[in-house]
Amino acid sequence: MAEGRKGSLTGSGVARGIAIGRAHLLARSELDVRQFNIERRDVVHEIGRLTTGFNAVRAELDQLKSHISAEAPSEVRAFLDLHRMILDDALLAEAPRDLIRTRLINAEWALTIQLEEVCRQFEAIDDEYLRERSTDVRQVVERVLAALAEGRPTRMTLPRKLAAGERLVLVAQDLAPADMLHLKERADIDLAGFVTELGGPTSHTAILARSLGLPAVVGASGAHALIEEGDLVVIDADADLVVVNPSEEEIAAFHRRAREQSEHRAQLRKLRGRLSRTSDGMAVELLANIELPKDARDALEAGADGIGLFRSEFLFMDRNELPSEEEQYEAYAKVARVMKGKPVVIRTLDIGADKVLTAAAREGLGMARGAPRPESNPALGLRAIRYCLAYPELFLTQLRAILRASEVGTVRILVPMLAHAHEIEQALAFVAKAKEQLRERKQKYDGRVQIGGMIEVPAAALSVPQFVERLKFLSIGTNDLIQYTLAIDRSDASVAHLYDHLHPAVLHLIAQTIKGGARAGVPVSVCGELAGELEMTELLLGMGLRQFSMHPSQILQIKERLFELSTKDAVRVAGRVLRESDPARIRAALEHRKAAVPAAARAPA
Ligand code: PEP
Ligand code: MG
Repeated sequence: MAEGRKGSLTGSGVARGIAIGRAHLLARSELDVRQFNIERRDVVHEIGRLTTGFNAVRAELDQLKSHISAEAPSEVRAFLDLHRMILDDALLAEAPRDLIRTRLINAEWALTIQLEEVCRQFEAIDDEYLRERSTDVRQVVERVLAALAEGRPTRMTLPRKLAAGERLVLVAQDLAPADMLHLKERADIDLAGFVTELGGPTSHTAILARSLGLPAVVGASGAHALIEEGDLVVIDADADLVVVNPSEEEIAAFHRRAREQSEHRAQLRKLRGRLSRTSDGMAVELLANIELPKDARDALEAGADGIGLFRSEFLFMDRNELPSEEEQYEAYAKVARVMKGKPVVIRTLDIGADKVLTAAAREGLGMARGAPRPESNPALGLRAIRYCLAYPELFLTQLRAILRASEVGTVRILVPMLAHAHEIEQALAFVAKAKEQLRERKQKYDGRVQIGGMIEVPAAALSVPQFVERLKFLSIGTNDLIQYTLAIDRSDASVAHLYDHLHPAVLHLIAQTIKGGARAGVPVSVCGELAGELEMTELLLGMGLRQFSMHPSQILQIKERLFELSTKDAVRVAGRVLRESDPARIRAALEHRKAAVPAAARAPA
């Protein structure tokens, strides 16, 4: 079986778990583009070829879209829409026509010149998410170039027939969402996962893989040099690792781990219906963080006690027109309906910094087209509540939609990135105004809707009394609280090693907020990534936290952990940790606890 271990590669693991399969290599995507000058009389012909190429890809994307099943993740449709939008953008659709006319060059040449120009513009953007979109543009253009070469879009060539039970690991330079969908359509192929040389964890390919639950490693440079067609490939997404032709012992160990993971998952599923409590009977609420309405089902499936954070900005991104009040209402009401009366905390728009609107959407808000992004330090600039207060119509529209959705469930409003008491006052005034507008329109809402605030800025954590006086609940956004406390840009890889959640300053701010809330009788949750980290459960519990909000996939393992913990021990651990000033000793103390509390999958009787 093992052909002799070839080696391993590292990249960014996407989704969870281990995938084992035979490699199928997709050719590198640089197309051999024919470039030549044309006669003036051929201009019309070349422009016609270009139009036919664009139309062929349009038809292909439309056809794919019409075959998407109702259960497919919403990202699938969104990515096809995005590629369709790129295809229709004048920068790609019009500019090459001018190049053909003015420079007398063939269609392929004109298109590649324009592609490089567009990519140059993207790559100059100081924003990882947007920079990554140049990959989408490249993928679209490559499809048009392939259509120009062949007269129709090329389908991915697929491998020889696999042996019964054999799974496939796709190895590619890059993988377009459309390619992934073509592959999913093939009933005879069992796709285990994929490895790409390009792409980061926020690439669309990665996002799609995550939502399809496909283990993958992206950004694994050197994959084509190391892996050959038919090699046995193991993707260990948890360890960001790809192993090629592992030894017999390694294969056995990977199979064992894969089996253990699936057994553990089955054990965890049994915990779904149980109330989450500590071993000494303290009730703890486990809530879900979601980004799109369809995620609410995952939350319910995982047994979440409600939605602790609906990141509403994902309804606003990757599109040229902002969602109307009606569209937003539908989205919020859908979540409220799915959650059947369980609380649904909808965070108002947290746009800015790493989450941006498209240029066209910004233009719709009244910003000049092509204007440089106004701030040189966007994480400290016009973001979240600051953005909403600067664009009152945007804010009011969203508030009306959320308020209306409160009629169909238990909806709460959460305001991000508050720092000043006057921002809270203004946000509350906007809610009052939105209610008044609804009353004028004779539209219903639940008058008891609670308004809460996020504690994400040290200034907020240090002035909790101002917050509890004005708000009904608090939610600690540790992702940003760490970023702002330690002055570490959370999306900057070069300082990622300094982003330390165990820094005593961070821990004290969290503890202080929880205590401040408890003293005033105002519930406090943590909705940053820390809430879903097993290593942190006991410490947060000991600080007094009773509401944890996390990605749905983490809920059951945290519930399992809580069953093993006692509040009394947790309080002792938290006291010891908070007296410590050295992060290394804090880390060692938590490691020690991890070993002390059995990690075995154990459901309580
Ligand atoms: C946070 O900052 O911890 C948080 C939950 O918000 P986001 O990650 O969306 O900024
Ligand atoms: Mg945040």
